[in-house]
Amino acid sequence: MVLNSVISKLSGKLVVLASASPRRQEILRNAGLRFEVVPSWFKETLDKGLFKAPHGYAVETAKQKALEVARRMPLKHLKTPDIVIGADTIVTVDGMILEKPVDKHDAYRMLSSLSGKEHSVFTGVAIVLCHEKQNEEVDYQLVEFYEETKVKFADLSENLLWEYINSGEPMDKAGGYGIQALGGMLVEYVHGDFLNVVGFPLNHFCKQLDIIYNRCTSSSDQESLSFFLSHNGTQTTTILTEPLPNLPAQSRHNSSAKHNPSSSLRPNSPPVSPPEHTQKSPSASPTHEVKRNSSESEVGESSLMLVNSLSKHTDEREAQPRDSENATLPLMTSRGQHEDSGLKKEHLQRVIELMDGFKASKALFTASKMCVFDLLQSRPGLDAAQVAQEIKASVKGTECLLEACVSLGLLKSKERTFQKPAYENTDLASCFLRSDAPFSLQGYIHHCNDTVWPLFSHLESAVRDGTNQHEKAFGKKSKDMFQDTFYNSHSVKLRFMNAMDSIAKVTGKAVATAFDLSSFKTACDLGGCTGAMAYEFTKAHPQLSVTVFDLPAVIEMSEHFHPLCTDNRVSFVAGDFFKDELPKADLYILARILHDWPDDKVHLLLSKIATACTPGCAVFIAETMLDGQTPYSALQSLNMLAQTEGTERTESQYADLLSKHGFGGTRVVHTTNFLDAFIAFKI
Ligand code: SAM
Repeated sequence: MVLNSVISKLSGKLVVLASASPRRQEILRNAGLRFEVVPSWFKETLDKGLFKAPHGYAVETAKQKALEVARRMPLKHLKTPDIVIGADTIVTVDGMILEKPVDKHDAYRMLSSLSGKEHSVFTGVAIVLCHEKQNEEVDYQLVEFYEETKVKFADLSENLLWEYINSGEPMDKAGGYGIQALGGMLVEYVHGDFLNVVGFPLNHFCKQLDIIYNRCTSSSDQESLSFFLSHNGTQTTTILTEPLPNLPAQSRHNSSAKHNPSSSLRPNSPPVSPPEHTQKSPSASPTHEVKRNSSESEVGESSLMLVNSLSKHTDEREAQPRDSENATLPLMTSRGQHEDSGLKKEHLQRVIELMDGFKASKALFTASKMCVFDLLQSRPGLDAAQVAQEIKASVKGTECLLEACVSLGLLKSKERTFQKPAYENTDLASCFLRSDAPFSLQGYIHHCNDTVWPLFSHLESAVRDGTNQHEKAFGKKSKDMFQDTFYNSHSVKLRFMNAMDSIAKVTGKAVATAFDLSSFKTACDLGGCTGAMAYEFTKAHPQLSVTVFDLPAVIEMSEHFHPLCTDNRVSFVAGDFFKDELPKADLYILARILHDWPDDKVHLLLSKIATACTPGCAVFIAETMLDGQTPYSALQSLNMLAQTEGTERTESQYADLLSKHGFGGTRVVHTTNFLDAFIAFKI
């Protein structure tokens, strides 16, 4: 077994850990496993007296936890996991099962019963493999095993006992101690897997994955098996009864496949109760036990089991013959409730994603505005309370915001034993969301939050009236937002320029390199704003000089945005492109200009460009073209409706507009980087 290859088999799969234990999460994360945490709602109330051996109880609890999550996720989370991992750790001493203490006295009772003695720690693990079928049924395949580790405690004095109890550490731990922290001081020796005592037998788990993915992968292996089907109401229980050829003898345990209709798998059915005796069906293969020698103790049983069959006991397994040809890999099918009610799950999921889209946007805007990404860039690893203090916000609210950002892939959280999770930026946030990143989109995010968001909240009026919504959103009518709204206030102007600058930096290179422009010596970037696009053009074309032409209010501020090593091939001229004479150039660049205006204004501008051009000169348009009808361009068009009186257009609409002013020979490049590039030549 090569650890990496085993764990990597799970990459791209939705792996879910049905446990809230930070220690389990840490063990699995440290092993490189990527997974979601969905704590199980299964109440650990199985009757321990029904189990002949304590590990049966741990395995059954692990199984019920995993199955509860596997069944709940398609219904409540609207996604079906590929794998759900459940685990339950118990401590046994003198025939008693110790779980988590309920209070300090319970902790005292547990710890004093362990004092000076050897005890066993069992972790039962259940791996539920979910196979979603076309008809929205889900097959569940269960693999379960347990690991035992022996631990010997030193003699504990009363003082030591109470000191440890008063540290608070025992309270959420099976047996009332945590071996990885202060509790380690109580321990004389450990025989077996240490991580098993912490809460998860990683080594055995990886071996089990190896069996599942490396030695039993071909679907034909599974398809060649025959099934015994039993229908019960809306669900089907499938029991595999034929041998699974590729399973190695050392690691297989098959259950005797007794089908128990009363315990079949209804999504909300209560957990099955363990039987007192296991019976073998005539078609079932013999049970096979494996012992794994991780210590002197007998440890490491594994089994591929029928989901609604029950935990087996060691003595029963030992009584049965080994037969490597007769392992079984049972499957269970439960019919999706969505299908029953005529719902298409993926459609429902899509609708909910769309309905929730605004919440995700606002969470991003809020975190950006409150400088969360900047803070975590300079000080990664802060917990929620520390972030709250820095951003001057409530701990409760900050926790919610940070967790929302984690769920959206903007932040990562690291679980830490005995400490609150620590947060840090994901690569995405480092690259685009911190303010000092070369491709920071922070300026555009703030524009979206402060300008686009209020305008979009009046979208219905925009659609009804076909006009921009400045008056409703900002209390001021605007025919020309650049002259009427944006540049009247210094802060709004700066925000808008920041927004344009950030988008131009992200999209500029793809636009500037879309065509060979080596025949052009001079260009004029009309409405070139901060010059960000112009700098990209001069970087891409060493022979080219670019004049940025924009309104005086913009030009006077543009120097704040100049790159540190300024390029003297970029110059700035103030003016109004509807009124003033345009600077002379071979190439006129219109980057996100025409979409701001209705056709009459576009014609006015193009006529002025045409007058300034001689044959061979060209117009270069950078816009989101509507042709592909991607959500981005179509939504951008709605944005133009609410914000300006303009619109996004198709390639042929631009070609049409230009042809009326003597431009032809158009070429288009779809850059896949938000803006498409379009060039047309003066004939
Ligand atoms: N081209 C830039 C880019 O792609 O990042 C900025 C595009 S922004 C949507 C529109 C630009 O046109 C603004 O910088 C604005 O100031 C400028 N603008 C608007 N009306 C103008 C006018 N009448 N004359 C000159 N520039 C104008």
